[in-house]
Amino acid sequence: MLFFSLVLLGLVLAMWLLFARRSTTRHTGRDARYASSPVWRDGRFRNVADTRAGSLRGVMREFWANRGIRRKPRSPLPVTPVRADVLSGPASQALQVTWLGHSTTLIEIDGLRLLTDPVLSERASPVPFAGPKRFTPPALTVAQLPHIDAVLLSHDHFDHLDRDTIRALAGKVGRFYTTLGVGRRLIAWGIAADRVVELDWWQEASFGSLTLAATPAQHFSGRGLRDGNSTLWASWVVLGTQERLFFSGDTGMHAGFAEIGERYGPFDLTLIECGAYNELWPDVHMQPEQSIAAHQLVRGRTMMPVHWGTFDLAMHRWDEPAERARALAAEQGVHLVQPRPGETVRPDSTLQAPWWRVFEADSAPSSIHNKESAA
Ligand SMILES: [Zn+2]
Repeated sequence: MLFFSLVLLGLVLAMWLLFARRSTTRHTGRDARYASSPVWRDGRFRNVADTRAGSLRGVMREFWANRGIRRKPRSPLPVTPVRADVLSGPASQALQVTWLGHSTTLIEIDGLRLLTDPVLSERASPVPFAGPKRFTPPALTVAQLPHIDAVLLSHDHFDHLDRDTIRALAGKVGRFYTTLGVGRRLIAWGIAADRVVELDWWQEASFGSLTLAATPAQHFSGRGLRDGNSTLWASWVVLGTQERLFFSGDTGMHAGFAEIGERYGPFDLTLIECGAYNELWPDVHMQPEQSIAAHQLVRGRTMMPVHWGTFDLAMHRWDEPAERARALAAEQGVHLVQPRPGETVRPDSTLQAPWWRVFEADSAPSSIHNKESAA
């Protein structure tokens, strides 16, 4: 089994390499905007704090030690049909969010529709036949989506930026807001340059009645072997006339959360990454304890965990993020929402029943929520 996995891994890596050689976006530092970014240094974007990365050997050891863990549900999770009013007619004035799986959400606020990190393909991968395959179908196809006023992109990893989805979406999106460097990828894929807005951390853009701000995250970027950290990663703030939303993107715990909370909080709803964590990469993804802490630091009122329940990207149980976040939120009095894929929530929605447990009969919270935080 392991031998087969290694052969498969090698094959995927080889294909990735081949693909990467053609798809690599080169950034030479000529763009003055990148050079003037406080987090651009020696031709690469950098995190503010030093980040640790696990060795390949350590990852393989952890993979082997956790080989019995159920990293996917026994059968693909079903999706809830998206409400008709979400898909047609004017967008809601009041803030509401529909989870389309992983970090893909459809946000309605001030009569506008925004889409975060749209990935509606079968795999989060550079190739269609290998790489992480979703265990929950997308809640919608691109064809079913209504007109999207703006797409918000947090970074260029395959599970957040999918070329096929972007290309398919192009005709129904007004504007793409993304981070320094990622805009070039979109333009290379055929998106008109005048519809792409690149922001550095702490830069704002007005969009209708909204203010959109790119805010710090602690992560990394890249789609090939030679383009690591050549594009920026970020979280996003959406300020409406009445309500405010925070989207964490992918991130480890970092000091910037408190500053985001000071400058832009409180937030009526936060979409916080909660999944794909491991103690071997403690600085670039958050354990559920840290996800809850991040929500509190930015001064969130209601928290919706994202980045779970869709792709197998780490070595924890597929439902562990949901169980740990739920237990911690209850302990700490955090108002949590945990919608089904396809379900729509508002900041005042009550917490859903733990719907995922029916798909994993032996899912016992007491057996999995006592894992130590890497904080
Ligand atoms: Zn990422």
